Amino acid sequence: MMIVLTESATPEQVAEVVALVEGTGAQAHVSTGETLTLVGAIGDSEHDGRVAGLGLEQLEFVDRVVPIAKQYKLSSRQIKGGEDSILDISGTLIGQNHFSLIAGPCTVESRDQLLSSARAVRDGGASMLRGGAYKPRTSPYSFQGLGQEGLDLLAEAKAETGLPIVTELMDARDLEPVLEVADVIQIGARNMQNYPLLTEIGKSGRPVIIKRGLSATLEELLMAAEYVLKEGNESVILCERGIRTFETAYRFTLDLMAVPVLKEMTHLPVIVDPSHAAGRRDLVEPLSLAAAAVGADGIIVEVHSDPQNAVCDGPQQIEATDFAAYAQKVAAAAALAGKALAARPQKV
Ligand code: PEP
Ligand code: MN
Repeated sequence: MMIVLTESATPEQVAEVVALVEGTGAQAHVSTGETLTLVGAIGDSEHDGRVAGLGLEQLEFVDRVVPIAKQYKLSSRQIKGGEDSILDISGTLIGQNHFSLIAGPCTVESRDQLLSSARAVRDGGASMLRGGAYKPRTSPYSFQGLGQEGLDLLAEAKAETGLPIVTELMDARDLEPVLEVADVIQIGARNMQNYPLLTEIGKSGRPVIIKRGLSATLEELLMAAEYVLKEGNESVILCERGIRTFETAYRFTLDLMAVPVLKEMTHLPVIVDPSHAAGRRDLVEPLSLAAAAVGADGIIVEVHSDPQNAVCDGPQQIEATDFAAYAQKVAAAAALAGKALAARPQKV
């Protein structure tokens, strides 16, 4: 159930609605837009629809009461009155007309490798730096990431470049050290439905990118986001990274239709990862251009200073020396969809 207040509703009247909603046992979620204030009643169906019984539409400062029939509520487009969310990630914006280019190596391998890649993406116009310290590898015998040492190197790259850091968290036991450096926590495709992990991130309040599971529907992706949002963390970015289909000619099928359709379903920013979908460097640029043109709010792309010798995902990582030209083309494609590449934050 969503309660739309009139434009003239005062903070006291908003508080009155919240108290009435919470009195039924439902959770009240207030969202303040430019002109409208909305109060979402979450969990109402578990309380026999008691919010409807309150007759809130009778109050002079309530404009209307709208049922949200969908399973996902806090992530639904309606809860924000149809507006897109805009997130501030340590000074760089994503959402609405702000396009974010997140770039960097698959994994942190060494100081030299990370810093040279980080400088290249900073100089080429990236908005944030990516790099994994904990890696979800299909084989337990493959390189698993540098762990704490990788996080320390990411902190060094952040201090030097001023770029916000995106890094993956796989295990809630590593949350504290990851929070020390991550401006955005990445939840990998394989952990999209790790609900206790999502709940912990929700509680931490840190911005998060949730990657779509290998065979997850869009509704399942939104339900994953709901676990974070439900804890009061509104900084959720969704990521399409390719799904498994019957097609074997390429690694995954990049579902670009997910971008406009998710935008119909949700107010959350939607980004695309062409690198993991393709698994091949030559496909990364065309897929990035398509993703930007179809309305994505950003791209997360793998870039390495020496991909031939990369420890993992070498064949898909863009050469650092090619990044600036690539970024310019992506910015032009984003402009077609009315979005401008967000600058990295001014170094403090
Ligand atoms: C990654 O971004 O490093 C990664 C492993 O991606 P995914 O979870 O989408 O496979
Ligand atoms: Mn990778």
